[in-house]
Amino acid sequence: MAETKERTFRFLILGGGIAGVTCVEQLSAQIPSADVALITAGSHIKAVTNYKQVSKTLEEFDVEERPSSDLEEKFPNLVVIHSAVKSLNTKSHSVETADGRVFGYERLCICSGGRPKLLTQDHPYVLGIRDTDSAQEFQKRLSKAKRIVVVGNGGIALELVFEVEGCEVIWAVKDKAIGNTFFDAGAAQFFIPSLETDKPDRSVPCKRTRYTTEEPAPGAAHTFTAERNSRRPGSSSTKQGSALGPDWHEGIVLKGTEQLSRRVSLEYQCEVERIFTPEELLHSPQQELNDEQEGSWPVYIKLTNGKTFGCDFVVSATGVVPNTEPFLHGNNFALADDGGLRVDDQMMTSEPDVYAAGDVCTACWEHSLLWQQMRLWTQARQMGWYAGRCMASHVLSEPIELDFCFELFSHITKFFNYKVVLLGKFNGQGLGPDQELLVRCTKGLEYVKVILSGGRMVGAVLIGETDLEETFENLILNQMDLTPYGEELLNPNIDIEDYFD
Ligand code: FAD
Repeated sequence: MAETKERTFRFLILGGGIAGVTCVEQLSAQIPSADVALITAGSHIKAVTNYKQVSKTLEEFDVEERPSSDLEEKFPNLVVIHSAVKSLNTKSHSVETADGRVFGYERLCICSGGRPKLLTQDHPYVLGIRDTDSAQEFQKRLSKAKRIVVVGNGGIALELVFEVEGCEVIWAVKDKAIGNTFFDAGAAQFFIPSLETDKPDRSVPCKRTRYTTEEPAPGAAHTFTAERNSRRPGSSSTKQGSALGPDWHEGIVLKGTEQLSRRVSLEYQCEVERIFTPEELLHSPQQELNDEQEGSWPVYIKLTNGKTFGCDFVVSATGVVPNTEPFLHGNNFALADDGGLRVDDQMMTSEPDVYAAGDVCTACWEHSLLWQQMRLWTQARQMGWYAGRCMASHVLSEPIELDFCFELFSHITKFFNYKVVLLGKFNGQGLGPDQELLVRCTKGLEYVKVILSGGRMVGAVLIGETDLEETFENLILNQMDLTPYGEELLNPNIDIEDYFD
């Protein structure tokens, strides 16, 4: 690394996603006189807007792509540097950017997010979806496609399969049920009919205003337009943009070439064995295709259940890996099993004065019994905010305790147009046999599952407009013994809120 530092900042944050931007905002608000720099590979930053605390731990917000100048205007001591960091030297407390500049820091926070865990790297017919650019590439390819294969069972695959129309989708999941990152087989069953019905007309406007970048005229600044449910114009290209977030598909048309609305075929309990070009397939005589799968497809995929499908392209939605690569060489970071930078309860990595937050890190403090890390939008915000507070407190020599938001896992999202609230050990994670489940389900309307351990509520899945989130959150937090109430807890004729008032 070149030696001369162009400038040394008191606080240096890497990454303009939700974690990095929230960290910058928190630091700048807490110590307005400190010089703060944000280095980001993307041309824009992500901003949290319309933040709403729904209950003690549940939160909802929108996310907007913004020009970084907005942030600099708000915080005069902030400098935003648009370049990717290519190396880090923790001994000399400096980073080098792709354009050859070196910046020093007193304290650094790495918020570089994750990158898609692709089935295979650089395959022309295998696509990952992560940022605006990859979503647009997907949309472009889909507009010419008759059949795609989606591999993966997390949130992205769930949303994608539900949103695509005019194109046959073969969905390969490694589990016995869909969506098992988020819910059990019962909830999965609740959702299946949604995949079997045609897509409703998109006449209801998106509740979130989305902001999207337009290519500037030469010499002009980027302009931003608010748009609802319309096609996203091209955004300036970046190799390492921020992860997309909730409702990422709302602003883009996900339509193939066929007249059909939605046609999804599920292949359960299988993974990808091999991806073939048509030529390779020709030279593999043992491959047998069903009549309807024959044809001249640009790519063929063989699953471990023995079936081979031809398709226009494959979407690899098999999760993300922490984006640590540029920071590891020459340093001594402790890494977690999932490849994330290990952080303690002060968001500090194993290297002095280096913190990390968001998808890039793995929370390695002793977790509360009701919390687990999931690489989600809300946790990126909470970690960025808490990392900012820790950095400021350490500089001011003030003690800081792990924030309350890490007490209880909570997440609100939407799957297949249903509101979904997940609380605590919503899937009985790590509870072993000592758990009791209560389930209430009204087909097409709601699915409510409560997990009890030793008579106390430790988790819940609420699908639909159940209005139970606040009451259940309280019951989980106060760990009241619910044994006397038994199944009455889910009796639809009892107003549970009044019951526990
Ligand atoms: P990111 O948002 O990925 O930001 C990383 C930043 O680091 C970027 O600005 C990037 O440019 C920058 N960067 C990377 N490398 C470098 C480098 N070397 N030098 C400098 N800068 C660098 N979560 C939900 O809660 N709900 C959802 O519905 C949801 N849907 C999703 C849909 C999709 C398609 C995807 C991909 C993710 C979704 N997520 C969702 C997950 C959520 O988006 C992430 O958990 C969250 O964005 C992580 O934020 P982050 O700030 O840690 O990282």
